[in-house]
Amino acid sequence: MGGIGLDELVFASFRQTVRHGCDQWWLYVSTCLACRQNWMIAQDDRIYDNYYLRRISPAQLQEIEDFGLWPDEFLTYEQVLKLGKATGDVWAFLEPRSPALVTTAEDLRRERPDILVEEIAALLSITVQQAVGLLG
Ligand SMILES: [Zn+2]
Repeated sequence: MGGIGLDELVFASFRQTVRHGCDQWWLYVSTCLACRQNWMIAQDDRIYDNYYLRRISPAQLQEIEDFGLWPDEFLTYEQVLKLGKATGDVWAFLEPRSPALVTTAEDLRRERPDILVEEIAALLSITVQQAVGLLG
């Protein structure tokens, strides 16, 4: 998704109903007020500037609300970045040590301490040398 005005158009009838919170700042549930369908949404406005939507059933919503049990699809930022990378739309950051990149590299490492710098570079669509600079 993306494109000029499309977000606004699609989300006009959406109301955010549950936030994941904790470390998963990108993850929430919205309900379509027109048809009551619930959507799990990962909103990456940091790196690839994309939204990822997945329909969830009433039972899944109940699990989220009652037990904090979320479908695991968007649970790590690494998963979300992989989806962004797969779209092929890459934003080049003008600043090699942009705070968004630095924070994201730190987040990736917190999520998975044994992640390789090459993997971080690939997820962020930057060079390995630049990724090393982010972690330094
Ligand atoms: Zn709807």
